[in-house]
Amino acid sequence: MTSISSTNFTLSSFPPGTHTWTHLHFGAPMRVPVTVPLAVARGVSDGPTCLVTALVHGDEFEGPAAIADCFNTLDVSNLSGTFMGLPVTNPWAYAGQSRNTPDHYDGLNLARQFPGDVTGSRTQQHAALLYNWVTETLTSEDVFIDLHSAGSQYEYASMVGYHPTGDESESRSLVLAQTFGIDNIWRIPESPSSTRTFNSTVARTGIPTVGTEVRGCGALRESDVADLVTGLRNVMAHQSMLPDSAPDEKPRPVHTTHQTSFASSGLFRTNVDLEASVSAGQTLGHVYSLKGELVETVTAPIGGVIWAIRRFASVRTDDLAFLVATQQSN
Ligand SMILES: [Zn+2]
Repeated sequence: MTSISSTNFTLSSFPPGTHTWTHLHFGAPMRVPVTVPLAVARGVSDGPTCLVTALVHGDEFEGPAAIADCFNTLDVSNLSGTFMGLPVTNPWAYAGQSRNTPDHYDGLNLARQFPGDVTGSRTQQHAALLYNWVTETLTSEDVFIDLHSAGSQYEYASMVGYHPTGDESESRSLVLAQTFGIDNIWRIPESPSSTRTFNSTVARTGIPTVGTEVRGCGALRESDVADLVTGLRNVMAHQSMLPDSAPDEKPRPVHTTHQTSFASSGLFRTNVDLEASVSAGQTLGHVYSLKGELVETVTAPIGGVIWAIRRFASVRTDDLAFLVATQQSN
């Protein structure tokens, strides 16, 4: 099978007990149709589907490596249900080695376009067809996992996040997050941007959903890839898709994050390390002009633990500087 249309997609196209690399074709109404690789491992017996996406942002490389490693090591004779991996969700951003779709197309951040617009620009149309494909393929018995990392300009602590959807799927998503195996559990705060992500809009349809972040810096740490593969297998074991021993479901504290952004442009200098404990108002770094003049002192918005740091030192107004995590009281 060389390609399959996103609008005619059915799991029955894939025989039980097979590993298949195919291509998913996004055609009309896309003005520029596109195909992206799709890995499908269909187990010998029926069961739920675990659908994993990566490279929604084109500079986050741990996710596609984890999808490939998980797919290549899955024994379909022990699998109940289906593992599907979409390693290159935004093919234009990946080809451009950039977070967003390159400017000469539309320059948009795919993770701010969902549920998409079929009459919009290239990235907006792609978001609409991706959203339709996922929500028509999965049910509330399945799982959606969106693998992200800090990309080329940031450094993030490893975390597994879920959205406060306020329905039954929220508690199921939290269980998946607790099952994944990464200690930092992130209740993703509601904001105009977070509600336009792929994982947020899918979660709001009642499909249990988690998203991950790992170190990034434009690199691909083997330990992060291994943690993601373990997490995918833990989730599939929890869904009774794999005979792996039941994953450790020790309750881990749930955190939320508070962000601080730059109020100026310039060169950012900081000595703060990832996962450092900071107090409210503590100086975290400075922005300088090219003449070495201090233009901004960046301070902690709240006391907590540093979960994200800007590492690309040329910064602009409104760029994210830090995420500070605090434990939820509930
Ligand atoms: Zn991302």
